[in-house]
Amino acid sequence: EFDVLVVGGGPAGAAAAIYAARKGIRTGVVAQRFGGQVLDTMAIENFVSVGHTEGPKLAAALENHVRTYDVDVMNLQQATALVPAKAPGGAIEIELANGASLRSKTVILATGARWRQMGVPGEAEYMAKGVCFCPHCDGPLFKGKRVAVIGGGNSGVEAAIDLAGIVGHVTLIEYDSRLRADEVLQRKLRSLANVTIHVSARTTEVLGNGEKVTGLTYEDRTTKELHRVDLEGIFVQIGLLPNSEWLDGTVRLSNRKEIEIDTRGATSIPGVFAAGDATTVPYKQIVIAVGAGATAALSAFDHLIRA
Ligand code: FAD
Repeated sequence: EFDVLVVGGGPAGAAAAIYAARKGIRTGVVAQRFGGQVLDTMAIENFVSVGHTEGPKLAAALENHVRTYDVDVMNLQQATALVPAKAPGGAIEIELANGASLRSKTVILATGARWRQMGVPGEAEYMAKGVCFCPHCDGPLFKGKRVAVIGGGNSGVEAAIDLAGIVGHVTLIEYDSRLRADEVLQRKLRSLANVTIHVSARTTEVLGNGEKVTGLTYEDRTTKELHRVDLEGIFVQIGLLPNSEWLDGTVRLSNRKEIEIDTRGATSIPGVFAAGDATTVPYKQIVIAVGAGATAALSAFDHLIRA
């Protein structure tokens, strides 16, 4: 039986495991893929104090740091269910896809999230070669260039406003007949000189030259005409999906299926904490996930010494 069992091996899970292990308590990490989203990232230039690194390098550094402590790392294991303690102070169970079940006094959920993709030709091929998901991360790479933002919800319109201050020109493409972002954001967007907005527009293909993105095509859903836009970058902002499906019916989730946490990382179930992109934390970033992982681990420790 563990004192702290962390589910997820991204930045949040790694930080939680390190903070827990440093308290000298029995700590385990179960992760489907240690490193998480960081593994899929090329350049990382906003992890404070690290001017530049690459995803796989940072993922390896996270894992090496965790392994310098006495942590039971169970990689390539998927958690499928959480069973709350039967009685106060009892063990919480985490069931795995391989049929095994792990028991722990406290659990930290750090299963992260994934970006919803458009599913059009060229998107996967040009991932990180012009197709991006994070304006805070990759916006500066397109300084002075032309980009598109796909999606006219709050994230898409915020991204377009943010990018308009950095890049040369932004084309915003929304499938629906109108933008769905808050009115105040729409007003701000429309006031910007270097932004073009297309509504009722369905992106049909990401175009490239074999090495990087050169444009996209979209269909005007009213006239059925196909249009081509020449550009260097495409930011897909059609939703971030928390990896919380396996928790449905246990910890309280928000209407966006994010695990609800308080400022200490506590969930609706005593002894169960959560951190990172899978939670209601505002802004999904590595440095934020790391901090949240530390918070959750310290809260779990606090819970243990009071039990
Ligand atoms: P994740 O990194 O998503 O890790 C989740 C972990 O949980 C993984 O180990 C996963 O395998 C595991 N897991 C999921 N479900 C289960 C389950 N059922 N059972 C067991 N394990 C499970 N942020 C920045 O700050 N700077 C950047 O430059 C940057 N660039 C990015 C580029 C891309 C392409 C992407 C996709 C994201 C980028 N981000 C960047 C965002 C950043 O990667 C995330 O904010 C961060 O990784 C979140 O950490 P996390 O630990 O919460 O979740």
